[in-house]
Amino acid sequence: MDRLSETAVQAFTLLRRDIHQHPELAFSERRTAALVAAQLGAWGYEVSTGLGGTGVVGQLKRGTSARSIGLRADMDALPIAEATGAAWASCHHGVMHACGHDGHTAMLLAAAQHLAQQGRFDGTLNLIFQPAEEGGGGALKMMEDGLFERFPCDAIFAMHNMPGIAQGQLVFRSGPTMASSDYATVTLHGVGGHGAMPHKATDVVVAAASLVMALQTVVSRHVDPLQPAVVTVGAIHAGQANNVIPAEARLEVSVRALDPQVRRSMEQRIRDVVRLQAESFGVRAELDWRPGYAVLVNDAAQTVRALAVAQKHFPAHQVTPQGPMLTGSEDFAFMLEKVPGSYLFIGNGADGEPGACMVHNPAYDFNDDNIAPGAAYWIALVQELLSPTHP
Ligand SMILES: [Zn+2]
Ligand SMILES: [Zn+2]
Repeated sequence: MDRLSETAVQAFTLLRRDIHQHPELAFSERRTAALVAAQLGAWGYEVSTGLGGTGVVGQLKRGTSARSIGLRADMDALPIAEATGAAWASCHHGVMHACGHDGHTAMLLAAAQHLAQQGRFDGTLNLIFQPAEEGGGGALKMMEDGLFERFPCDAIFAMHNMPGIAQGQLVFRSGPTMASSDYATVTLHGVGGHGAMPHKATDVVVAAASLVMALQTVVSRHVDPLQPAVVTVGAIHAGQANNVIPAEARLEVSVRALDPQVRRSMEQRIRDVVRLQAESFGVRAELDWRPGYAVLVNDAAQTVRALAVAQKHFPAHQVTPQGPMLTGSEDFAFMLEKVPGSYLFIGNGADGEPGACMVHNPAYDFNDDNIAPGAAYWIALVQELLSPTHP
């Protein structure tokens, strides 16, 4: 297997820490995108910038084959105040690379340099650096800018680090892997009044309390028990004083599923529960349903190929062929709806080891020991899937 040189590992570790120190929020990844574009350009990639705002694509063609492959990394950081105490900690207060997208960018750049300088492949390599994975749907924005029309890919792949799994462990999964994530805001309108005379009001607080409990039955009583699903009421706002019945209450709801059909049926059920609960309390409900990320479904055939590359080039104990589903979500799901491919995980560190701190925690940091195996996997995947001897 092609491995990065010691010099390259050191260089990309420094680069990862430089990106970490200068985190940028969704669609503001200007410094990061400029850095990515400059590096790719210097190595001979044809570079396109400004896709979906700050997205970058580096394209490298070699040989004569019409085959093509796309590898995707994300570049955005989170609105979290860093508490790692690392020498390379964020210099933008309140903004932090708490999901390791700095590491994903560094791993893909490390592979990019190696593939440009000594890659043995025949076909077209598209390296996709996307903005705004954290809720902004940067993947979709790049696609709306013609990502796959301008850079057609036979197959696409992406890799995310995962704390709690041994450092460098490669985890694959065929089929549904990450949840859809939808948002609902429910506003209840009643008639306010004096707390001493509830019969002269229609109380949205009692209606909201009942609705929270009724929403818990969507998963427990409506969804097939063998299908994973989540309904979380994460915020509830109403009233100011103990002796005033407010006229309005607001609930913020997060809805997740791992099957597109379950997702649709949960939406319908929630709409019914909200409407009928409100009716039973004599209040009026408004529901603002905002579809978020789709269910991430790994293509079976492409996952077999991606897994086979890992099994050929990495020790068996370092490769998990079928990992668990996760209730987190990921906008690479939109790309996978358009192009078959696979999304894999690389362990950031087992519990009790360095790198175990969960993503989105102020103490999280990407494990730099993953730059070498992460890049090596990307290099192997490209050289196997675009192998010059198997057109
Ligand atoms: Zn994240
Ligand atoms: Zn992430």
